Amino acid sequence: MKTVKFGGSSLADAKRIKKVCDIILSDPDRRIVVVSAPGKGENAPCKVTDMLIETASAALDFGATKARILMDKVAARYYDIACDLGIPETGERIKTDLYALLDRDKADRKNFTDRVKAAGEDTCAKLVAAYINSLGHKAVYANPGEFGMLLSDEFGNATVLGKSFALLKKNLSKIDGIAIFPGFFGRTEKGEIATFPRGGSDTTGAILAAAVNADVYENFTDVDYVYSVNPKLVKNPKPIKVVTYREMRELSYAGFNVYQEEALLPIYRAGIPVNIRSVNNPLCPGTHIVARREDGDTGTRISGIASNSGFTSLFVAKYLMNREIGFGRRLLSILEDEGISYEHTPTGIDDVTVILRDSFLTNGALDRIIERIKAELLPDGINVVRDLSLIVVVGEGMKHGIGIAAAATSALSKAGISISMISQGSSEVSMIFAVKSSYADDGVRALYEVFFEGN
Ligand code: ASP
Repeated sequence: MKTVKFGGSSLADAKRIKKVCDIILSDPDRRIVVVSAPGKGENAPCKVTDMLIETASAALDFGATKARILMDKVAARYYDIACDLGIPETGERIKTDLYALLDRDKADRKNFTDRVKAAGEDTCAKLVAAYINSLGHKAVYANPGEFGMLLSDEFGNATVLGKSFALLKKNLSKIDGIAIFPGFFGRTEKGEIATFPRGGSDTTGAILAAAVNADVYENFTDVDYVYSVNPKLVKNPKPIKVVTYREMRELSYAGFNVYQEEALLPIYRAGIPVNIRSVNNPLCPGTHIVARREDGDTGTRISGIASNSGFTSLFVAKYLMNREIGFGRRLLSILEDEGISYEHTPTGIDDVTVILRDSFLTNGALDRIIERIKAELLPDGINVVRDLSLIVVVGEGMKHGIGIAAAATSALSKAGISISMISQGSSEVSMIFAVKSSYADDGVRALYEVFFEGN
């Protein structure tokens, strides 16, 4: 059995929804389907979720008239889709339900906003189920709250509760036909609607796949494959056919924007393979994310190269640091006190460098950290380098190869790029190079040439 998820751009209008339904109906194993809210499309410049967020804040801050004007646009969009799908009576019901949302209790802002936001996915699921039924096939709209998608009460940032998995499994197994499940939200134990962070339909799909122990979690988007490098940097980059969860996690960390990282967790734990594929080219096999791969699966030991900007390095030196017990702990606890999570800590004998994300270094945090390091750790020197990017070369096959670091550093040196930091964990699934951000794109291209084009 397959759990399948469709993203918002694949559901932007009736034409695309029809294509999605063809894909669902073309494989009888596609029995649990998760849908996002309609995204941007040819004649739709906005994502429905963004429109609903705007509507909710208008209802909270500017009153009923403004909110109603904004809701008119959402209702019209769904109504038009319903009419184009030949199910106008569903469109009428949808309109009534959407306007009713504006009359809900507004005492708790976040709670109200989540309820309105969730309507994007909820309405889309009702529409898809109704359309499939109109074609003479059996589909059932699955209400997340009723089916057991229980979430923490962190509105807008909810996480799934452990007990959901058994409930979902039990309730989904009773469905006769295809389950059409709205992504992105669930219900708290008090019965309120709560949403995951943005992009959370991926999470819903992963939870359902894990709950029913699906054979595969198919994630349909609008690209044929995940590519080994950002296609904006390299023309016709090689597609990734098979990649492991660990590799995908490293690539996402370094900027691959294919998948919500947290979303992988339930399927990673359950060992369920993910297949990322395209609605526009459903016969293309797409990218498979699996627990293990052979080096030969991609024809190379490296599966991808990515880079991410916005890092700062903090270098701290002190003579005989290596003998000072607790130095590292005290340094990291200063960061902890500031609520900062560090990224990497390469060390020398008498020095340590901490790589930090700039997004944590706001409101004078860096100055406070430096002052405390000076006062509490009495270092001989501190040096801060800002504006760094991390280039990450990822590949499970790296550990079996000799000379990969040599090939990478020589490619960067030939491109005239100075490396500020190199890090390779003993898992040997990635190699990380910090470079000045202005060199990052050239660095990625140089590494791509050496590892994928054999230059
Ligand atoms: N519609 C939601 C968003 O735009 C959730 C999703 O698409 O995954 O973030």
